[in-house]
Amino acid sequence: MIAALKNRPVRRLPDRVRLQGRVLFLTEDPQLVRRQLEGQDLDWTPSMKLRDNISTDEITPAYICYYYDETLGDFPYLGLKCGEEFPVTRGSVRQGGFVASVSGKRRGKGSSREQSPYAEMCAGIKLVVAENVERIYHENCQNLGILVTTDFSIIERVRRGEELPLAAFTAGEGEITRGIVEYGGLFNYNVARLQGLTRVTPPATAARPMTSGEKILARHWVVDLSTGRVGVPAVRPGDEGFVATDIRFSHEYVTPMAAIFFEQLVGAEEKINDPGSVLFFRDHLTFLDEAMTPERIKEGLLDVALELEKKQRAFAEKQGVRLYGELTRLGLHGSEAICHSKILEAHALPGQVIIGSDSHTPHAGAVGAVAFGVGTTAIFNSWITRDVRVTVPETVRVVVRGRKPANVTAKDFMLEILRHPYVKSGQAIGKLVEYCGSAVEALSVDERATMTNMTAEVGGFTGYVAPDARTVAYLMDYRGMSRAEAERCCADLASDPDAVYCETIEIDAAGLRPMVALPGDPGNGLYIDELPGRVKVEIAYAGSCTAGKKEDMDMYARVLQEALDRGERVAPGVRFFIQCGSQDVKRYCEERGYLEVFRGVGAQFLEPSCGACINAGPGVSRGKDEVTISAINRNFPGRSGPGQLYLANPYTVAASAISGYITEWEPGLTPVAAT
Ligand code: SF4
Repeated sequence: MIAALKNRPVRRLPDRVRLQGRVLFLTEDPQLVRRQLEGQDLDWTPSMKLRDNISTDEITPAYICYYYDETLGDFPYLGLKCGEEFPVTRGSVRQGGFVASVSGKRRGKGSSREQSPYAEMCAGIKLVVAENVERIYHENCQNLGILVTTDFSIIERVRRGEELPLAAFTAGEGEITRGIVEYGGLFNYNVARLQGLTRVTPPATAARPMTSGEKILARHWVVDLSTGRVGVPAVRPGDEGFVATDIRFSHEYVTPMAAIFFEQLVGAEEKINDPGSVLFFRDHLTFLDEAMTPERIKEGLLDVALELEKKQRAFAEKQGVRLYGELTRLGLHGSEAICHSKILEAHALPGQVIIGSDSHTPHAGAVGAVAFGVGTTAIFNSWITRDVRVTVPETVRVVVRGRKPANVTAKDFMLEILRHPYVKSGQAIGKLVEYCGSAVEALSVDERATMTNMTAEVGGFTGYVAPDARTVAYLMDYRGMSRAEAERCCADLASDPDAVYCETIEIDAAGLRPMVALPGDPGNGLYIDELPGRVKVEIAYAGSCTAGKKEDMDMYARVLQEALDRGERVAPGVRFFIQCGSQDVKRYCEERGYLEVFRGVGAQFLEPSCGACINAGPGVSRGKDEVTISAINRNFPGRSGPGQLYLANPYTVAASAISGYITEWEPGLTPVAAT
């Protein structure tokens, strides 16, 4: 345990709390918001039209998230749209002396960014009142110590300066959430756990058949943090507790804020727990300078974004944490690796629990690990406790059978799964997703990773493929393990034959054809031959964690070599970018002569980075009519610029770059360039 926390005084909040300050109503009428910011207090009446569906993007727009400290308190609600106006200006909430913020339905929709509630907290907000509140935003508020209620009668009591019972904010919550609220946030709660002042009752679940994911969670279940006891015989869906982690990683968008929390709450000179199992990555914003608009650069936002890199690097050095950084020391532009690519290539092992500051952390489930994304406070707390809070989800089984056609890939499996009614209606949200069946067994670990990665688009808690002979071979190839060692790693991790699944989805791989997801959502899947007409493309992007692996490069190279052999090049008017996920992948391409093939057809090869996948690098669109065919994992509006973003498999992306329109690849057939 971190010594400084052993004797740190920590106590529950009093049973009654008093919140002092003004109440801010976030209304549809921009004038009402402005009047409050100028000093007028409004009386609450149910006829007041409150804003519904306030997203975290509105609370803190993406460019605001380049800030990572208390400066964020200048910016809450800067993107809040009331009518056609944006009434909140920089600093106005903080200066207004507000303690409570009130809105309508579905507060905190969208991205899980913790910058949003943290910005509110830094501006003085201690209470959020809304008709209902989105789960992750709600959890982030609780972790930070912000009180949340759907009881509007509390508003008047706050204004009268009354004491409020803390129980009003914990009614109906489980043991852990209650504890987090009562201790004023996850950090204080964890200090109390470390000191043995509060205990989480371990699940009393008797031995039962379990899925692979459940087995891994049971083996990592923390029985007593203060003594380090880990492991229970069995868990079942709904069991709530903490699991010990094997790897904890974060990237430059999150590490700096987590570092600030650590330095302020634990101590600037304190050391994180077991730095050898922590990893940092500089991957998201390495190419930002090539994508940011001149106006934003003029506003100073590029300099602000660069601070993220500096803060992460300084914290890594101080803490002795391995940082996969930039390539500047080699005189190159780019990153050593995208976090998910490197975790799978070099770190993840079957049966591990891995947490990362990113929704695509399930990528590592390709080797049979339980890997999932968490928020900033959870990452920061894991640096102290090494564990993370979970509620065991139900498991969905996705069975893909049959022999897939040669031009169909794991990406098509996922686009098919994403348009399945069970997934499309949101029923897989928060579930463990187990991919199996003969077509999954036939996939390489790289291709399996495309599936587990895109569990984020499914909305699952995580996705995995139980380890098998291919996993053994992967560990021998990539990690240099002996066969015996690799087999030991993979043993006893298969799901029990009578394990319970809440749903089974069956897909026939033999019946699939290459797909695209139409712009707007990865669930908009369609067979390419069902497109109503030719879709001309201006950009083809072949990269990201999902599609920058060795096998993805094999696929691009296969199509492009065929084109080269026939004297074809990238179609006129198309810009084609190929970006690998790591330096290992680049070396692989060099060894096989792929770089010459890519250059030969006129593609631009880029060093690793998230780049265009996060609207921060070469390959982003500039206008709303620009069409991109991309092998990345999601195509929400604005994801890679303002244009029209179609998702497809790597073969299709390469074939479309050559033909100039969305084209499925047919082995041996070079597409004809559009005229
Ligand atoms: S490549 Fe894209 S999906 Fe992958 S980690 Fe980076 S931003 Fe996220």
